[in-house]
Amino acid sequence: MLTRDELERYDRQIMIMGVGEEGQEKLKKAKVFIAGAGGLGSVTPTYLAAAGVGVIRVVDHDRVELSNLNRQVLHWDEDIGKKKVDSAVEKLKRLNLRVKVEAIEEMITEVNISQLVDGFDLIVDAMDNLPARYLLNKVAIERNIPFFHGAVHGFEGRAMTIIPGETACLRCIYRGAIIEGKFPVIGVTPGVIGCIQATEVIKYIVGIGELLTNRLLIYDGLNMKFTEFKAKKDPYCEHCAQVSKGQDKK
Ligand SMILES: [Zn+2]
Repeated sequence: MLTRDELERYDRQIMIMGVGEEGQEKLKKAKVFIAGAGGLGSVTPTYLAAAGVGVIRVVDHDRVELSNLNRQVLHWDEDIGKKKVDSAVEKLKRLNLRVKVEAIEEMITEVNISQLVDGFDLIVDAMDNLPARYLLNKVAIERNIPFFHGAVHGFEGRAMTIIPGETACLRCIYRGAIIEGKFPVIGVTPGVIGCIQATEVIKYIVGIGELLTNRLLIYDGLNMKFTEFKAKKDPYCEHCAQVSKGQDKK
């Protein structure tokens, strides 16, 4: 049941056809895992907290640096030197007291990832490197948790939604391990892509609209173009092929 305060706070989104009080209750019950508290990880949890997602867990192992502040908008001048998760969670709690926000200061590794996502309904990719994304993709498929991919570079970004066992996964479309060091980004790019990820998360939880599945969305901010590429499930994909086969047998 929603409280009177919640009915007022979320009034405008409850008005949306297909959301209603029932959709708002689904958001309240949802538990979303955010991998990273950087550029994308500043934007996605902000909009999910504003929308009333019940539990948000943010995981990151970095501290705030001056050079982060052009794009990681949850971190401010006064936060330099603080743990990113602490800085992020403090702001999210101030935005919406009704939402439970958890900070975990850990580096996501093959060893801890399964435990970190345990009990969560959705995983948001707010990482900055491909090996970490592969880890998230793999655990999402193994544990049957929907996975919301996002990535940025300069004025460009991309996004895709992955439903384990049903749609193409990240590994179906990306191959190899690109070693990424420091790369250029302007803050508006994670702003756009993080909002697309948050939109997908909200749609998935409420159960409305058409998801960004089997489609890789490419955003080109310099020319202001959105392009889509069809993503096909790879029957030999090392992450999702086994899962699909296993599910077919049932
Ligand atoms: Zn795959």
